[in-house]
Amino acid sequence: MKPIASLSLDLDNKWSYMKTHGDAGWETFPSYLDTVVPRTLQFLKERDLKITFFIVGQDAAREENRESLAQISAANHEIGNHSFNHEPWLHLYSKQELVDEFQKTEEAMAKITNQRLVGFRGPGYSLSPTVLEVLAERNYEYDCSTLPTYIAPLARAYYFFKSPEMSDEEREKRKKLFGKFSDGFQSLKPYRWQIGEKSLVEIPVTTLPVFKTPIHASYVIYLSTFSKSLAKTYWRTAVEMCRMSGTQLSLLLHPLDFLSGEDAPELKFFPAMNLPIEQKLEFVSEILETFGEKFEIVNMRQHAETVKDEVQIKRIPIVKNTKEFQTG
Ligand SMILES: [Zn+2]
Repeated sequence: MKPIASLSLDLDNKWSYMKTHGDAGWETFPSYLDTVVPRTLQFLKERDLKITFFIVGQDAAREENRESLAQISAANHEIGNHSFNHEPWLHLYSKQELVDEFQKTEEAMAKITNQRLVGFRGPGYSLSPTVLEVLAERNYEYDCSTLPTYIAPLARAYYFFKSPEMSDEEREKRKKLFGKFSDGFQSLKPYRWQIGEKSLVEIPVTTLPVFKTPIHASYVIYLSTFSKSLAKTYWRTAVEMCRMSGTQLSLLLHPLDFLSGEDAPELKFFPAMNLPIEQKLEFVSEILETFGEKFEIVNMRQHAETVKDEVQIKRIPIVKNTKEFQTG
């Protein structure tokens, strides 16, 4: 029997990329969900994959997105919480701000699905002890906001590409993205946070064993723009290293893996957005095929459910002041 591994997609919308990037015009919440959701659902259906979509509350709250978002749950994919405002500095929020954020998101999600939300991924891998505390209080079952990597600043610098319009204040906020609490946790294997009486399974976004470089689909596609065979070798090596080290891979997809620059001209500057869509989809297909050869692919909730009784426990003290836990 093949070991299990999970697959999820962070449904970042056009406006959330523009917002993080500091581009004007995001305030009207421009959306590409009408294009990317049906395309992705069709792609997954053809490969008989059921995954987890982490959806941003703001999108679910907006009438124009509802029809496409409702299709996701209708196709039996799991819906996860990806925050309301998609601010990668979520770890700086106070407890009350977080409670409001979660409440608003859960209310908005009720408009697109009747699934109860049990999983969370913070925008830009942002996490704090207060976020964990709020998740536990609201009976979430798992979190997957950690990205174990030695190159976090590099990974986040991705968002800083060419952003001349950004104000100093916005730049300051983004500086705080570096050296966060979550960077201290480098485990590639799932574990359990013990928060008072409750516990949450943590499923880190898998990075390459030992080297901890990213292996999410967008990164592998980016490598393919330099050399397709190099990218394939890198991915095959990653899958094999995970299998041999007993790491149950959790692979992350993004909407840009299913879009070309023609679909979203505002995001043309992002890596690999110059690839023709057919070429991109074919490459994603190859990535998933290699993945499926070695692992049994499940959604995040099933992954968390399967590992919850066998993983190591990390205790999180309940704190009044989140700032005490910040490293940078
Ligand atoms: Zn996101």
